[in-house]
Amino acid sequence: HTKSAGRNGYSFFEASMNANAVEHLQLLNDLRLAVARGELRLHYQPKFEAPAGPVRGFEALLRWQHSQRGMLSPDVFLPLAEKTGLIVPIGKWVLNEACRQLSEWHGQGLTHWTVAVNLSAVQFEQSDLLEVVVEAIGRHGIPPAMLTVEITESVAMRSPESTIETLQKLTDMGVKASIDDFGTGYSSLLYLKRLPASELKIDRAFVREMSVGNEDSVIVSAIIALAKALGLEVVAEGVETADQQMFLTRLGCETLQGFLLDRPMTPGQICARIEHALPGESVFATGRQLLT
Ligand code: C2E
Ligand code: MG
Ligand code: MG
Ligand code: MG
Repeated sequence: HTKSAGRNGYSFFEASMNANAVEHLQLLNDLRLAVARGELRLHYQPKFEAPAGPVRGFEALLRWQHSQRGMLSPDVFLPLAEKTGLIVPIGKWVLNEACRQLSEWHGQGLTHWTVAVNLSAVQFEQSDLLEVVVEAIGRHGIPPAMLTVEITESVAMRSPESTIETLQKLTDMGVKASIDDFGTGYSSLLYLKRLPASELKIDRAFVREMSVGNEDSVIVSAIIALAKALGLEVVAEGVETADQQMFLTRLGCETLQGFLLDRPMTPGQICARIEHALPGESVFATGRQLLT
């Protein structure tokens, strides 16, 4: 009796494993076609001058409009894209689309708007990364200084010397570099000092756990001091509460990003904001913010 239940249990387990594998393969197959099918989208989350504006720029965040599963966030498909190398064509699409959007905004007179694009490890280590960036910028005729690339601290530290070299070449072109999710990797301060980056982004995990006098708030305060000592701009990501907003501002954090201020939006939603703003009113002013 027990034996047969065990056997059933086993085959059930096996079947569900197969179902998982099939689903995985299906997703991979769909992802292979996603670029050609035009299913990828970029949403844009503003970064604000602390405490509440004006807008300093946007971060482009990838979404996949899947025909059956709806709008998928990067956590669902980016690991798969990384593992299979599909991130390379996808990353190219992201860079191009961000530059296209920038040129559209510039054409509408929004010439001070900037966009930051996230680069994955595999993408950052491609030998033709510079060419891809140059081509995207050239095709859309945007000033390189309007584009920032974000790499995480852990990607930056995988091979510090070549990171410095790559970021230097990007910086020489006029593109800016930002170190994302800072505090979660293991930066050598010596390398950090030599990194040709202009910005550090404090990881959301520290911001979330901050409260007066606790370890996380001490870490955040130290990162802000470190960034300033190195001449880097500092951005706090994941700002969700007014307390965090106030606290970070008091600590001298210059730029804030998070759901409290704005979620990632479609270009259409951003456009609607512009159209509904009164003359002289900030496009991104909400009840939670000061008018700028
Ligand atoms: P990230 O670059 O650190 O981006 C911040 C993530 O935090 C985004 O998630 C954003 O929607 C979310 N976020 C922003 N404010 C808040 C907040 O107040 N609270 C909380 N809980 N979350 C907030 P998203 O869009 O799901 O992206 C996740 C990660 O996927 C990104 O982390 C980035 O590493 C990666 N990613 C996104 N787009 C791209 C892309 O185009 N290329 C590559 N290679 N990676 C991307
Ligand atoms: Mg980022
Ligand atoms: Mg981040
Ligand atoms: Mg992150």
